[in-house]
Amino acid sequence: MAEQKFLPFALPDIGEDEINEVVDALRSGWVTTGPKTKQFEADFAAFIGDGVEAIAVNSATAGLHLALEAVGVKEGDEVIVPSYTFTATAEVVRYLGAHPVIVDVDPVTFNIRPEAIRVAITAKTRAIMPVHFAGLACDMDAIIAIAREHGLKIVEDAAHAMPTYYKGKLIGTLDSDVTVFSFYANKTMTTGEGGMVVSKNKDIIARCKVMRLHGISRDAFDRYTSKTPAWYYEVVAPGYKYNMPDTAAAMGIHQLKKINAFLKKRETLAARFDAELADLPLILPARPTEAGSNHAWHLYPVRLKPEAGISRDDFIVRMAELGIGCSVHFIPLHRQPVWRDGYSLKRESFPVADAAFEAEVTLPLYTRMTDDDQSRVIAAVRQLLGK
Ligand SMILES: *Cc1c(COP(=O)(O)O)cnc(C)c1O
Repeated sequence: MAEQKFLPFALPDIGEDEINEVVDALRSGWVTTGPKTKQFEADFAAFIGDGVEAIAVNSATAGLHLALEAVGVKEGDEVIVPSYTFTATAEVVRYLGAHPVIVDVDPVTFNIRPEAIRVAITAKTRAIMPVHFAGLACDMDAIIAIAREHGLKIVEDAAHAMPTYYKGKLIGTLDSDVTVFSFYANKTMTTGEGGMVVSKNKDIIARCKVMRLHGISRDAFDRYTSKTPAWYYEVVAPGYKYNMPDTAAAMGIHQLKKINAFLKKRETLAARFDAELADLPLILPARPTEAGSNHAWHLYPVRLKPEAGISRDDFIVRMAELGIGCSVHFIPLHRQPVWRDGYSLKRESFPVADAAFEAEVTLPLYTRMTDDDQSRVIAAVRQLLGK
């Protein structure tokens, strides 16, 4: 049998348009934040719609940090985050000297539960960070109602949610305070590294813009193109260095143009997995239940049932032997030494996230996957589960 090439767990989908635009940035003489970043921001805001503004940053982590700072999270505050997420969601809270209050998740969607948020609220709670796991929206109506009732801010970690509709509205347009998207290499669209902060709130946008670039009141490109003297600027706060370079925005401009085509491809792949894995001892990913909601299919997370007769760890090793890369989403925060030890978190307090982690495998799903690639994944899963 001919040796088959290893099928990775994720692959970016970069075309000639992206390559030419990056080359154009390189040849233009302007490689940092400039005209391509402005265009990417304008295009992104137009895509999300509903009058939002968009600010490009060099990662979603940076964007989440800016967002929390802009909504007023301060030292000693508490911010409620789900355990079933990437560590970035919680670490940005610590950047500001505030504390993540880590809660368990819903057993079907792995999203943060409104009831768990309610129980976690104290006099110190300042904000809630819903994470739309895998690309399926959280119960945002209930979360927004709780935030209103208690005067809390909402910063959505939408790293998986490009594009996700919730009851007919795109994530980014809901009545939260700020939404942050990720363009990391394995996300549904990529700029290599990058992120976008989206909000309808002018004050939040203004604050994020200033803090994105050292707390300077005018950015370098404004200074370069403005009629007033280019050398003058004022520093109004000790800001950060989180701006997106034009070399990255150049990729983003074309990835965004393809995002609906990418989504269609992801939906097709997910539907085929659903159909061809349905008879196996697996719990397949949750589907949206409300009208007007969709799944962005950033990830295709399955869980092995006990009757599968194979542990998650062995399953991943055997898949790799069959030439297929899998991953795990997520090792919950309460299992990571920094959060577990720092906040004395016990596994018993997170029964859903803990059990989900032990059984979860993320199968490869990406737009460059061919029918044959997907057939190999399905055949390997069926072989390991004895079908
Ligand atoms: C990828 C990811 C992030 C971080 O995104 P970066 O752009 O790499 O900073 C944050 N939250 C979640 C849930 C993620 O999956």
